Amino acid sequence: MIEQRVIPAAGGVGLRLRRGERLRIIDPQGGQSGDLVAFSQDGRERLSNGRTFDYGGKIYVSTGDMLWSDRSHPMLTILDDQVGRHDFLYSACSAEMYRIQYGVTGDHANCNDNLSAALRELGIDPEPLPTPLNVFMRVDVAADGRLVFAPPQSRAGDAIVLRAEMDLAIALSSCPASTCNDGAPPMPLAFEILVD
Ligand SMILES: [Zn+2]
Repeated sequence: MIEQRVIPAAGGVGLRLRRGERLRIIDPQGGQSGDLVAFSQDGRERLSNGRTFDYGGKIYVSTGDMLWSDRSHPMLTILDDQVGRHDFLYSACSAEMYRIQYGVTGDHANCNDNLSAALRELGIDPEPLPTPLNVFMRVDVAADGRLVFAPPQSRAGDAIVLRAEMDLAIALSSCPASTCNDGAPPMPLAFEILVD
C-alpha cells in the first residue's frame, strides 16, 4: 500500500527523496496548479529552469525530459505525465506579487512562503528560491513573447511522476493564485513516494 499525502489547499510540504525514488504528484480534483522546487541534500545545488532550457532545448517539459541543477547535474527525470503541460517560467507567487500586481495589502497565502517554510523545516536555506516547476500550470507563449495563462489541463486524478537522479530535498506548494487556476478557489494536491 502506497501512502498518499496531501498538500493542503494554499499550503506546502517538504520531503526528501533518495536517488532512484519516484515522486508522483496528483491533482485529485483537477484544475489545480502546484509548485515544486528541488535542492541537493546539502542545499548547495538548486533546480534550474535555465539549465533545463539549455540542455533540453525547449521551455515545455514532459515525459522523458530531465530537470537540471544550477551546477549542471541531473536532478529529476519526468517518467510519466498525464497532463503534458507545466510551466517553468514563472517564479513562485509571493506576498510582493499579490501586492504589486493585484493590490493586496494584507496577508495572502503564497507559494514563496510555503516553499521556503517547507525547506527550512528540512534544514535547507531557501534563499534565493529557484524558479519552481509549476506543475499542471498552463502558460502559453504568444508569438510576440507575451505570456498567456490558460486553465490547468489536469483532470481529476491526473498525475506527473518524477524520478530523483540524486538525493534531494523537495518542497511542494498548492498554489493559492486564482490567475493560474482559472479563477477557482485553491484546492489540495497530493503526492506519493514510490520506492521500489
Ligand atoms: Zn503560487
